[in-house]
Amino acid sequence: MDIEKLLGKASKQPCILCGGHGDYGAMFVPDQEYQKLFGALDGKKRILFYSICESCKSSPNQSERIELTMLADIKKSNAALN
Ligand SMILES: [Zn+2]
Repeated sequence: MDIEKLLGKASKQPCILCGGHGDYGAMFVPDQEYQKLFGALDGKKRILFYSICESCKSSPNQSERIELTMLADIKKSNAALN
């Protein structure tokens, strides 16, 4: 897996928090208890790539907000599959 390439690709998406222009590609590794939710197989880890803009990156609690957004999104898309 070429992480640099994936980060570069992610950075072209809209910012995960505000939906504005994304400036940075970043990685999110869900906590172990959430790995299954994100589709990880036993003993494997899922890594998610996302984009964030300059102002959200420097906003307070951004990592908690990103985690909440990721969890809400995955729950929504898992629900849509059922
Ligand atoms: Zn933003």
